[in-house]
Amino acid sequence: MARRTAIEWTEVTWNPTTGCDQVSAGCDNCYALTLAKRLKAMGAEKYQNDGDTRTSGPGFGLTVHPSALRQPYSWRTPQVVFVNSMSDLFHARVPLDFVREVFKVISETPQHTYQVLTKRSSRLRKVAHLLEWPANLWMGVSVENHDALYRVDDLRKVPAQVKFLSCEPLLGPLSDLKLAGLDWVIAGGESGPAHRPISSDWVCEIRDLCQGSQIPFFFKQWGGRTPKAGGRLLDGRTWDELPARTQPSDLTKPHVVIA
Ligand code: SF4
Repeated sequence: MARRTAIEWTEVTWNPTTGCDQVSAGCDNCYALTLAKRLKAMGAEKYQNDGDTRTSGPGFGLTVHPSALRQPYSWRTPQVVFVNSMSDLFHARVPLDFVREVFKVISETPQHTYQVLTKRSSRLRKVAHLLEWPANLWMGVSVENHDALYRVDDLRKVPAQVKFLSCEPLLGPLSDLKLAGLDWVIAGGESGPAHRPISSDWVCEIRDLCQGSQIPFFFKQWGGRTPKAGGRLLDGRTWDELPARTQPSDLTKPHVVIA
């Protein structure tokens, strides 16, 4: 079933695959890796496959779940769905045919809005022309620091109707970021016991770039020991803007939609 989530920019999570391997600095404190270990210990069915100890861990081996493909058809009300909060749909070991199956479900449930986020932008770019892109699929890449900026160029080549960036956990300045072709930017700091520091200068630079380009900006959190530790005010207010091209159903908090 879909899980309600505390992630501010979505409503529910749906995991047709679980498990992953760390690929870049943004993965160093992966919450999903830690959570999978707990879920395995609790006996959760989807988290019994162990991953490589160097890049993954207990319960976090990449696993596809064909049985999860039916779930969105049963949700009675329209949802904003974060696809694979516990995995990466464009991981090399997710068969392309399974990615196609996921896209088919998305296409056949247009009442929902789906947010797919990847760090595997190279594979995304290479297979994008082999997929049919439903209008209700928002495609995003994670950009945690300067080294990850190449993912933005990969995303631009993808024919998704809505393209977004998740600059979280933001680990350094993104001064060379260009927003052409993008529809939404999320930024946020890291949370957890080993959280790394964020600078307000880095966040303001991204926010100002978005404002100058009329691109909606969503500030998720400053981070700290817990997600809420530092709050989410920037210059005395929250930043909850969303893309306008596809209207999300009813995110639980009031949000500003930039037309
Ligand atoms: S890509 Fe995402 S899910 Fe996979 S290890 Fe990195 S942070 Fe975790």
